[in-house]
Amino acid sequence: MSPVHRPSRVSMDNLPDRVRIWEVGPRDGLQNEASIIETATKIEFINRLTDSGLPVVEATSFVRADRIPQLADGAEVMAGISRRAGTRYPVLVPNVKGLEAAVTADAKDIAVFASATETFAQRNLGRSRSNQMEMFAPVLDRACVDQIPVRGYVSMCFGDPWEGFVDPSRVVDVCVELVERGCSDVSLGDTIGVATPGQVRQLINMLVAAGIGVERIGVHFHDTYGQALSNTLAALQSGVWTVDASAGGIGGCPYAISATGNLATEDLVWMLDGLGIDTGVDLDKLITTSLWLAEYLGRPVQSRVGRALSK
Ligand code: MG
Repeated sequence: MSPVHRPSRVSMDNLPDRVRIWEVGPRDGLQNEASIIETATKIEFINRLTDSGLPVVEATSFVRADRIPQLADGAEVMAGISRRAGTRYPVLVPNVKGLEAAVTADAKDIAVFASATETFAQRNLGRSRSNQMEMFAPVLDRACVDQIPVRGYVSMCFGDPWEGFVDPSRVVDVCVELVERGCSDVSLGDTIGVATPGQVRQLINMLVAAGIGVERIGVHFHDTYGQALSNTLAALQSGVWTVDASAGGIGGCPYAISATGNLATEDLVWMLDGLGIDTGVDLDKLITTSLWLAEYLGRPVQSRVGRALSK
């Protein structure tokens, strides 16, 4: 155990007082595991994350079992978790059938998954970039009737493994359309982890200029090139206060080349604790959870904080 097991607290100007961490480990993380995780373990994972104080724990997906067999037990997971009042448990849905299954499982929040680029839209959604909205429109219409908030994930916001760097105006177009069609907020995915802080600030500024306020923007960074925390700090300095992360850094993307490693939640909490920014998360409980999951998965924890503290 390192003699330093807590960051020193020194604040900086021009940062939010609090950050909402949108935990994606049980969904984004586990869907990319090669093996199938037992339902009871998923439930325990979500309950432990809840107990660590995370305000949002994305729980599962309601997608075709043959497409993502790792999350075929979405209904059982939603039925088995201990929901805490005030904590949100969003689920990913690709279509109205998925939405109906999510509602039956008493999901109160959903998310849809869009692409900023043509190639990824074709590969991941089987649609052209311009046609992807036709896929979401019935989901968004129905969610609006049922008053269910919908988050719009936008992948490949900064770089695409087939197309190279992404023109931010294309990302803005997709985000504006998602919001106009009823998404309550958008999450900007750096799916292959190539973004740098200037790009982050540029895109956020462009979104704000297009009428999407910072309160509706989340950032979803991958640490493939070691940039996730730098990019997060740039987003916070740009006014964003919702940050996606995955306990233990689990998850990548099965359809994207070299898309490794979501930003690890404990690495994020270490930085935010150090800056004196309130997250509501108990770092000890979170690290214990990530180490517990790593042991279950049979490999070392991916996060830097987890590794530093488990030596
Ligand atoms: Mg991710």
